[in-house]
Amino acid sequence: MAVSPHYWLAERFGAYYARAQPPSLPRLERREFGFGGWERKIEFRHLSFSSPIKLAETLAKDKPLYVSASSAYYEFPDARPMVRKNWQGADLVFDLDAPSDKCASGRGMPCAPFTCSECIHRVRENMVRLVEDFLLADFGLSRNELQIGFSGSRGFHVRAYKKEMEPLGRDERREIVDYIEGSGLTVDQMLVQEPIAGHPNMYKLRGPTPNMGGYGGKFAKKVVAMVKDSATAGTISPKLKKKENAERFIAGVNEGRWSDVPITHALDVFKQLFESMKLSVSNSVETDVNVTFDTTKILRMPDTIHGGSGILAKTIPLGVDFSSYEPMHQALAFSMDKAESVKALQAIPVISLGNRTFDAIEKDKTVELPTAYAVYLVCKKVAVPI
Ligand SMILES: [Zn+2]
Repeated sequence: MAVSPHYWLAERFGAYYARAQPPSLPRLERREFGFGGWERKIEFRHLSFSSPIKLAETLAKDKPLYVSASSAYYEFPDARPMVRKNWQGADLVFDLDAPSDKCASGRGMPCAPFTCSECIHRVRENMVRLVEDFLLADFGLSRNELQIGFSGSRGFHVRAYKKEMEPLGRDERREIVDYIEGSGLTVDQMLVQEPIAGHPNMYKLRGPTPNMGGYGGKFAKKVVAMVKDSATAGTISPKLKKKENAERFIAGVNEGRWSDVPITHALDVFKQLFESMKLSVSNSVETDVNVTFDTTKILRMPDTIHGGSGILAKTIPLGVDFSSYEPMHQALAFSMDKAESVKALQAIPVISLGNRTFDAIEKDKTVELPTAYAVYLVCKKVAVPI
């Protein structure tokens, strides 16, 4: 007899929550929660829980497929309408996703609804840049004030917990995003050409020094770091592969002189470098910038199962290198040992999950698969339990 995929998933999700460590967030009791099911990712909201254990008990009993929590803290998180909740502040949250309409693998077809490792790696690179180049370097945050986790689907969530940031309103959060994206900044604002007397076609290049604040200082630091590294110096100019030239160039930049070693097509070279420093956290189709601006949104609760993949929106533990984290292998909620029977509703491509690579499956074929992979396919609505 056919089993309802929703029921089949809910039973497995509920069993997981009954034995798992209760998912938690700082000041959980001040947050609004929402649950979703087979049809919609958020079916109920305005829920609140007095402790992680109470939340875990409800997850085991109600077996939702999606669990979301607010980045905001409220005096009355379950009150409605929103204004009666009495907003008290919010974490600074970023949601970085691989776009679903294209694939980083270059194979032409988008990999969505599945997620290929190239797409995960591309968005992970951006997450690492967001954390290292901006949140740690520019915003004075430390690693233990950040919660970094898989979104459960095609990206990562980064949450910053800092008292001073909690009261920031929509406009101030937009300014943070504008800064990260380098909105409106061009290399012409950074580098100035000064004519050299008696040489009409020559100029000196003046620019920021590494000890300056903001994007200028960032830019100078990056260029100096690249020139210091023999592996990257040559990408700016072959001349800089020579140690004495590199040293002379760096000494100049430290004083704001960017042409002590003249570089061919310097402005073009630096323009390209400058543009590559900007990080888009809102332009791609799927990156939901509103998560950062909109301080009343609810989003995937860390360490709960994503109903669109059956994979955990797992927090990457402190001490684990987030730059090489492989969520499709390391964030599983379900076993790779037990087997389940499912029937493919469509042709399923080769997919890697849980440190295994599964062969393509033909449409209408019934196969026995490890629970984690069977759940993944049923969540994707490309297979049904038998
Ligand atoms: Zn892809």
